[in-house]
Amino acid sequence: MPVKNNRLTNEQYEANFSDIHPPYESITAAKVDANRCLFCYDAPCMKSCPTSIDVPKFIKQIATENIKGSAKTIFSSNIMGAGCSKVCPVEKLCEGACVYNLLEEEPIPIAKLQRYSTEIAMKENWQLFQRKTSTGKKVAIVGAGPAGLSCAHVLSKEGVEVTIYEKESKGGGLMTYGIAAYKVTPQFCEEEVNYILSIGGIEIKYNQELGKDITLSQLKKEYDAVYLGIGVGVARQLEIPGEKLEGVTDAIQFIYDIRTKGYPAVPVGDKVAVIGMGMTAIDAATQAKRLGAKEVTLVYRRTEAEKPCTDVELDIAKTDGCEIIWLAAPKKIKGTLGKVKQLVCSVMKLGEPDASGRRSPVDTGETFTLDVDMVIKAAGQVPFEKLVKKYNLDNKNGKLLINENCATNSKGVFAGGDAVNGGKEVVDAVEAGKKGAAAILKYLDLC
Ligand code: SF4
Repeated sequence: MPVKNNRLTNEQYEANFSDIHPPYESITAAKVDANRCLFCYDAPCMKSCPTSIDVPKFIKQIATENIKGSAKTIFSSNIMGAGCSKVCPVEKLCEGACVYNLLEEEPIPIAKLQRYSTEIAMKENWQLFQRKTSTGKKVAIVGAGPAGLSCAHVLSKEGVEVTIYEKESKGGGLMTYGIAAYKVTPQFCEEEVNYILSIGGIEIKYNQELGKDITLSQLKKEYDAVYLGIGVGVARQLEIPGEKLEGVTDAIQFIYDIRTKGYPAVPVGDKVAVIGMGMTAIDAATQAKRLGAKEVTLVYRRTEAEKPCTDVELDIAKTDGCEIIWLAAPKKIKGTLGKVKQLVCSVMKLGEPDASGRRSPVDTGETFTLDVDMVIKAAGQVPFEKLVKKYNLDNKNGKLLINENCATNSKGVFAGGDAVNGGKEVVDAVEAGKKGAAAILKYLDLC
C-alpha cells in the first residue's frame, strides 16, 4: 500500500478541487433569491453574524441592483466578507438563523448573495472607503491573518500607518494556508489580501517571524502600539506509540502542502485514517479522497451528537465517500520498516459531561484494528505557548489573556483572534481585529 503523489490527471485534479459552491451566473438569478428575503425588522440573521453584517440591508440593495452599496454594507462590517461568504459555516450562523427555517422552507442563501456583490467589488476594484489623512501614529501588527488584516484595515481608515509582520510568504493566515482548496483557492486569497491593502497605509513585511526575525521589545520601541494576531499553529499530538512512523502527518501540514505545493505534488495513501471530526479533519479527509486515496476513514472518539463539525461539512465527507467510525480513539499506530501499516483503536462509550458540556468518551477496554498506510492527525491545534511565555505575556495554557480593552499585560500590546480564543471561525477573528483596532484607537487618543 504505497503513499504516493501524482495519482490523478490534471483534469481530474481540477474537477475534484473545483468550487464547491458555484456563484450566481446573472443578476437576475441573484435577484430571484434576494426578493425572497422578508427583510425582517429584528433580523436574526444579522444577530447571528459575529461581525453583525446588516444582512437585510445588503440583500435589499441587491434586489434593487445597488451592487456597490451592497458590497459597502458588507465590507463596512467585515472586510473579509468575500472570503467569509465561501468559508463561514453559515448553517450554524446567518442562514441557520433565517426565519425561513421556522417555516420549514429553505433559508435565504445569504452567503451566495454576499459572495455575489463582494466578488464584483473585488473584480472591479471598487474603492469603497476613504482613508483619513495620516495621524502620524504607527502600529505594528504581528500576523497577516483575518484578525491582523481586519485590525489593519480599520486602523488605516483612521489614518494610522500600519506595518504587518507575517512569518509566511503570503497573507491571509488560515484562509490562505488552512482551508480546503475547493472552498477557497490560494489565488482568491491573494486577491482578497490585495483588495484589503488597496486602501493604502498598510505594508506587509513577509517572512518575518516573531521571536526569530523580530522581537516584541523591538516592535514596542519602534511603534506606538502592537497588535498580536498570531493565531494558533502547533498541531496537537496524539501521544500514542507509532506517531513518528512514515505516513503519519498532521492535518494542518497536509492542507498547507496542498495549498502551497499544488495537488500532484502531495503524497496520499491508498487507505487513510483521519483522527478528529472538526472542520480541519473534514477538510483533510475530503481532500485526501480528492487527491486519489482509495479509502478514507474518519475516526472520532464521541458520537455524531457531539461532533464539532456541522452537518453540512459531514455531508461533504459522506458524499466524497469517506467512512466514519464513531466512538473510537487511536491507541497505537503499527508499522513495518518504519512505515504505517495499521491503526489500533480503542472502542469508547460516553460517560459524564466534561468541561465543554459534552459527554466525555470512556475507554471500554475493547479494541479494533484498521489496515491503513497513512494517518492524518486532526485533533486540534495548540497555541504558541513557548512564544508568549518568552515575552512574559499573561496566558492560559498559551492562550493570551486580554482585558475588556483587548490589552495584554504588556503596555501598548493588544491581541485578538485565535491566539486569544484558541481557534474559532475566520469571521470571529475578523470581529476580534475590529475590536482590537477600536481599542488601539482609544489608546492612541484617536477617537
Ligand atoms: Fe431575510 Fe432570512 Fe434575514 Fe429575515 S432572517 S432578513 S428572511 S435573510
